[in-house]
Amino acid sequence: METVMRNMFLKLAKNRPANKLAKRYGLRFGAQRFVAGETIKHSIEAVKQLNATGRVVTLDHLGEFVFTEEEAKESATMCLLTLDAIHQAGVTANLSLKMTSLGLDISRELCMRNMREILTRARSYGNFVRIDMEDYAHCQMSLDIYRELRQEFDNVGIVIQAYLYRTEQDIADLNELKANLRLVKGAYKESPKVAFPEKADVDNNFKNIIRQHLSNGNYAAIATHDEAMIRYAKEIVREYGIPNDRFEFQMLYGICEDLQKKLVAEGYKVRVYVPYGNDWFGYFMRRLAERPANVWFVLKNMFK
Ligand code: FAD
Repeated sequence: METVMRNMFLKLAKNRPANKLAKRYGLRFGAQRFVAGETIKHSIEAVKQLNATGRVVTLDHLGEFVFTEEEAKESATMCLLTLDAIHQAGVTANLSLKMTSLGLDISRELCMRNMREILTRARSYGNFVRIDMEDYAHCQMSLDIYRELRQEFDNVGIVIQAYLYRTEQDIADLNELKANLRLVKGAYKESPKVAFPEKADVDNNFKNIIRQHLSNGNYAAIATHDEAMIRYAKEIVREYGIPNDRFEFQMLYGICEDLQKKLVAEGYKVRVYVPYGNDWFGYFMRRLAERPANVWFVLKNMFK
């Protein structure tokens, strides 16, 4: 039953008409639990509240299904405005983005142009940009672009997904770039040809890559709500004598708040991924897929 629901939500996440419709009607069905609001102002308010509790943030202006140059330009402008707003408000947050929203599916050149503009603006503020990893179809392209950008910018990082078979090799290849990586389990529906179908294998590989990347001496953002993975990361850090400024834990807005606060109290750096914007549907569906129990929470909100 769980697998059926998971697959249904992951399919819905990619459904273009549903995404379009949701955009028109604003945050619904309890999506406010996972999405900070529709405007930059809302997002900065959320950052201020999180900063006040010792947590830092990565802000993401939500945007999927971008198929025209104009739409890609609009998304890039929102990224620039987000960086400006972070700077002006003097809050502690960096930026996460999806390259498909910047035109990756239209042309590599368009996406590169937008990325260069965003990274240049971020650099002028001493800020950092993280490229989210999307589905497998975009993985190689994203890594290739990251490699190219990394030659020009030192304020850019990317995400690596533990569910992919290729991941260990990718981390080995990225080592020469001293890549700043966010390590995640992976959120998309992938074929067993490219990704571990069993959760136990994903978890094992996640542990492997935490060890691999941290022991390579590179900065790691360990992005998970799984306490077993967090415990494992703490062990590795102790084993290799890695200082607290060489890694951070990351979690999603609205998920495992108590765990976030506990890690802060223990002296770890915790960054919360805060999405905002009106293109919330795909993101929300992926969160439901991760934990079908969240559906009860949605149903409750529908009848409120
Ligand atoms: P799981 O084993 O899925 O969950 C462990 C426990 O965490 C669950 O038992 C539950 O208690 C809690 N939990 C997990 N998810 C939820 C939820 N949605 N609602 C409520 N409780 C939950 N994936 C990508 O593919 N690309 C990315 O760029 C990317 N960026 C991310 C950035 C951050 C900061 C984080 C935290 C995740 C990101 N992800 C990304 C998603 C990631 O791949 C996983 O899908 C997601 O984190 C769930 O896996 P988990 O590690 O928390 O472990």
